[in-house]
Amino acid sequence: MESCIFCQIVKGAIPSAKLYEDDAVLSFLDINPINPGHALVIPKNHYPTILDVDDEDLKKVAVVTKLIAKALRDALFCDGINVLQNNFEAAGQLIHHFHIHVIPRFEGDGFKVWSGKPYKEGAMKEVQEKILAVIKK
Ligand code: 5GP
Ligand code: ZN
Repeated sequence: MESCIFCQIVKGAIPSAKLYEDDAVLSFLDINPINPGHALVIPKNHYPTILDVDDEDLKKVAVVTKLIAKALRDALFCDGINVLQNNFEAAGQLIHHFHIHVIPRFEGDGFKVWSGKPYKEGAMKEVQEKILAVIKK
């Protein structure tokens, strides 16, 4: 896709700091990291969101995500690692080429991933049933 920045990175038309590459998967450093070493893992094929990704490509991306997480831990001695993945603008997705963030975390680095809020009485069961009805179809 000409208009996709990550497809341009795959093609080499836009430079990137590569960490890993094979026939199906590429990993490179995020240009605007939460912490130094913040990496992205992408399938070379263009899929907009997780809902679109071919299962075989998804498996390959998952294996490379683990490899990168281990490399960050061993190379940067990070205290923790977040694996995050945004889909659609409402969830903060800016680049519409499926990608996984692998973020090295350090005690006291100040990045807050989310704050949970408890269910109201009965609401957990209600949402569970809604989701199960779709999964069981
Ligand atoms: P999203 O919000 O879509 O999950 O994250 C997209 C990420 O891509 C952002 O963290 C952003 O910093 C990164 N990014 C955007 N453009 C480029 C680029 O040209 N090169 C690299 N290496 N990262 C980019
Ligand atoms: Zn793309």
